[in-house]
Amino acid sequence: MALKIKMFIWRACYDWVPTRCNLVARGMKMTTDCPMCNQSLETTLHAVWDCRIFKDVNKSCNFGVHMGKGNNTKFFDFILNCFEKLNGADLELLCVVLWRN
Ligand SMILES: [Zn+2]
Repeated sequence: MALKIKMFIWRACYDWVPTRCNLVARGMKMTTDCPMCNQSLETTLHAVWDCRIFKDVNKSCNFGVHMGKGNNTKFFDFILNCFEKLNGADLELLCVVLWRN
């Protein structure tokens, strides 16, 4: 796996991705709504996986990974769940998809 993808996953696990929720948490004055769908908070997990604009891409990958509804699931918990359920090749593909999203 490319180093830039590993670094992205590591940064996402620590919420160091500049999503609106993360920027507001660091003091910026802005809305936390997702600018792509305007239907949810732009958390790290929402920005790279859960936003409805990615649903077709994510569904076509057919990883069979599901997460709880709502804005409470953290990216770290999601990727931990993926590490437990996916084989190495699927996990690597998932990481590339998350990075591309
Ligand atoms: Zn969205």
